[in-house]
Amino acid sequence: MSECDVVIIGSGVGGGCIATALAGTGARILILERGERLPREAENWDPEAVFVQQRYRAQETWYDGAGNAFRPGQFYFVGGHTKFYGSAMFRFREKDFEGIEHDDGAAQPWPIRYAELEPWYGEAERLFGVHGRSGDDPTDPPRSTPFPHPPIPHEPIVGEVFERMRARGLHPSHMPAAIDFHPGGTCERCGTCDAFPCRIGAKGDAETRLIDPALKHRNVALQTGSRVTRLIADERGKRIVAVEYERAGEVQRVHARLFVLSAGAINSAAILLRSAGPGNPNGLANACGVVGRYFMNHNCTAIMALMPWRTNATRYPKTLTLNDYYFGGDASDKPLGNLQLLGKIQEPMLRGALPRTPKWARAGLARHSVDWYVMSEDLAQADSSVRLRSDGAIALHWQRSNLRAHRRWVEVAKRLLKDLGFPVVLSKPFGTDSPSHQCGTVRFGTEPAASALDPYCRAWDHDNLYVVDASFFPSSAALNPALTVAAQALRAGAHLKSRLHEF
Ligand SMILES: Cc1cc2nc3c(=O)[nH]c(=O)nc-3n(C[C@H](O)[C@H](O)[C@H](O)COP(=O)(O)OP(=O)(O)OC[C@H]3O[C@@H](n4cnc5c(N)ncnc54)[C@H](O)[C@@H]3O)c2cc1C
Repeated sequence: MSECDVVIIGSGVGGGCIATALAGTGARILILERGERLPREAENWDPEAVFVQQRYRAQETWYDGAGNAFRPGQFYFVGGHTKFYGSAMFRFREKDFEGIEHDDGAAQPWPIRYAELEPWYGEAERLFGVHGRSGDDPTDPPRSTPFPHPPIPHEPIVGEVFERMRARGLHPSHMPAAIDFHPGGTCERCGTCDAFPCRIGAKGDAETRLIDPALKHRNVALQTGSRVTRLIADERGKRIVAVEYERAGEVQRVHARLFVLSAGAINSAAILLRSAGPGNPNGLANACGVVGRYFMNHNCTAIMALMPWRTNATRYPKTLTLNDYYFGGDASDKPLGNLQLLGKIQEPMLRGALPRTPKWARAGLARHSVDWYVMSEDLAQADSSVRLRSDGAIALHWQRSNLRAHRRWVEVAKRLLKDLGFPVVLSKPFGTDSPSHQCGTVRFGTEPAASALDPYCRAWDHDNLYVVDASFFPSSAALNPALTVAAQALRAGAHLKSRLHEF
């Protein structure tokens, strides 16, 4: 196809939500995705294949701030990173939109408030089939619609921890989760999920929940194996007229009236920077100079809380979360963050972190541990950035922030877990080569001088260009991002639907 009405770049959460919103309009929509369909195969659930052989990790080289090459934890498939996500589908808290004061400074306020996103959160939960229950967690924001499905029940050990937390006066709650686990559902509690693709399609990911339903409309087409390299503007540099991509070794172009960029926060910034031209010497959407800046991830640490005398046979542990310390606590009035269960750690997953520990010892650790994910907010900083090297490769200069608060939160969480009956508690920060919660590189705002996108994710500089992946986040909060990306993309999609005739 060399011409269509709408080109969507990337088939992850942002792109999938726009395809969903516009599918019924009859507009000719082409989704360009650099990856292929992820095959359903035995290796999907094999920790050896996924973690040791890194079967699905992109074969790509990026560079860090010191110029060291690394192979990033990127996954290019139809459905984007949700093919591997842990399916935790949180709404951000109301105050997350308002610029919370942290140890290292204030978070950037959003140009919209929670109330504007609330109906779209509900719609995103419906589309992804989220299970959950509100009311147990005092930080829960108000909702106008119930969760589409009841919460995933805790398995025995998780249920015990839940009760022990409650007995201490804490407010653990059921983690909102997008897996198809309810009467008549397809989830088998396979024992993987977080960081694994689903072999039976029971995870609510962007491929199964957004792209495939959108493709049922004859006006929507998906072209895989098509890596977009740049967007092309008209002579004045104002209007985007075409997108250039590589497919099977050939450079091709497609012309359209509307362009929706959703290649993930790092690749979208790189594409905009790579699209510099006469009218846009700093790249597209970048008159203000923010594109590629303010990169955020999250500050994350894994904790293994050990029960030496018991085996943890939990199959799907991601049913419990704790936000009692989200806005502060333990003698600190500054936010610490979120605590949630991780997918069950298995021996091969420990090989990278504990290479010198004998295999039997790693297996023992994995058998006796309850595994946690400690998350704190990363604050936006102008120098934390995605840049292009002279050879065109991506350089990711992630400037860490708010680490004092994160370390404090890890200590508080470890102490809490010891008090809850785990005599040995081990922790390891997540590495910087896997930007799982990447965001912030094409921020939205109310001022064209300080943001690349308007509050509907339209580029201030180009009326027919929208950027709807996690790049638009002005701050990262301390909760998993996918539901918020989806809610804002659906909001932008509804706005685009009302404007389609204008392009
Ligand atoms: C292991 C893991 C676990 C996670 N767990 C959770 C979780 O439990 N809960 C949660 O909320 N979030 C989780 N996340 C994060 C979540 O997956 C992302 O926040 C979300 O997918 C971001 O959506 P997006 O639209 O910004 O990007 P993506 O969903 O990544 O979509 C980007 C798409 O663009 C494609 N693309 C990239 N470059 C190009 C190009 N040049 N041309 C064409 N196509 C391109 C990609 O292949 C991809 O399909 C996790 C992520 C990982 C990696």
